[in-house]
Amino acid sequence: MTIDFTTVFGRGLLPEIGKIANAPFAVVSMPDLASVHRGRLGAEPALVLDAGLDRGHLEELVGRCASMRTIVGIGGGQALDAAKYLAWRLRLPLFQVPTALSVNAAWGHRSAVRTDGIVQYVGWAVPEAVFVDFDLIRAAPPVLNWSGAADVLCYHTALWDWRFAAGTGKVEAAWPYDERLAAASDEALRRVVDHVDEIHALTDDGIRSLVASLAYGGGAFAAAGWNPRHIEGADHFLFYALEYVTGRSFLHGQAVGLGILIASALQGNEPDRIRGVLDRLGLPYRPADMGITWDDVNAAFDRVHDVIELSGLWYTILSARPITPAFRAAIREWIDAADPAPWADPDA
Ligand SMILES: [Zn+2]
Repeated sequence: MTIDFTTVFGRGLLPEIGKIANAPFAVVSMPDLASVHRGRLGAEPALVLDAGLDRGHLEELVGRCASMRTIVGIGGGQALDAAKYLAWRLRLPLFQVPTALSVNAAWGHRSAVRTDGIVQYVGWAVPEAVFVDFDLIRAAPPVLNWSGAADVLCYHTALWDWRFAAGTGKVEAAWPYDERLAAASDEALRRVVDHVDEIHALTDDGIRSLVASLAYGGGAFAAAGWNPRHIEGADHFLFYALEYVTGRSFLHGQAVGLGILIASALQGNEPDRIRGVLDRLGLPYRPADMGITWDDVNAAFDRVHDVIELSGLWYTILSARPITPAFRAAIREWIDAADPAPWADPDA
């Protein structure tokens, strides 16, 4: 159920690139990461390209890379996705160097690309290897790495939604509840929960644990025949609705973290326990922490069904349970409280 490739852990990995990458090679990165890799790759790349996810921009990069023999992605999700796209279109060997563990892009097969602002996931790229450099990851703002952990913790609510849909006869014909897929996601979830303090501290062990679960998550969608049921649910739909109503882009896992709390409360699915995990992780999940207000969250509540319909999303607690005024008031009080009383469901 996994699509495996090599992930290499260690220190001082960047200079090895020059010995590995067949020349001429192109580095795909972001301008603010130039100091991370400039003059440090053991050989000079023939091209250093700025990542972007607009398909027109990516096709322009494809044209510039015609004589390249290797693609090296260095950065966060956008750089790694752009590198994947080039490797896919040009059928070139790919090496990926994440500079933060904010997303599972290094281990996913498709790239998120935008055509006229609409996101599509396209391609199929399997890297020769992903290089996880402990010191590079620790040099990133910690919140980036913690947010990656939240994109695994969402299996807590996603798996509940899948069981709920199956149990109420609402699950999609293509995605019947599958105990083996659920168990695999549950294992990835437990690994992050069991190592949450090490992930907070970003110890070597914490980074290894988080990477193991992100590597699982990155491949899980393709490995399950593009069944997303075991990796996302209402947790993500609330985040998509937040993006939709605010027009803003968020740090993915951070907004998903807020989505996990709201979804777990709606589900009656151990909201206090999962909040405790997010608190130990250290991820700031309150709306104010991501520059939005509760008015924005309420607007997302108002529009989430439109987003589900427009995007063709699936049946979750959001389809089954109305978000009442009493719930809105209670969830705000619970999430904003510094030292919260246990969640008390106003509609129960
Ligand atoms: Zn996600």
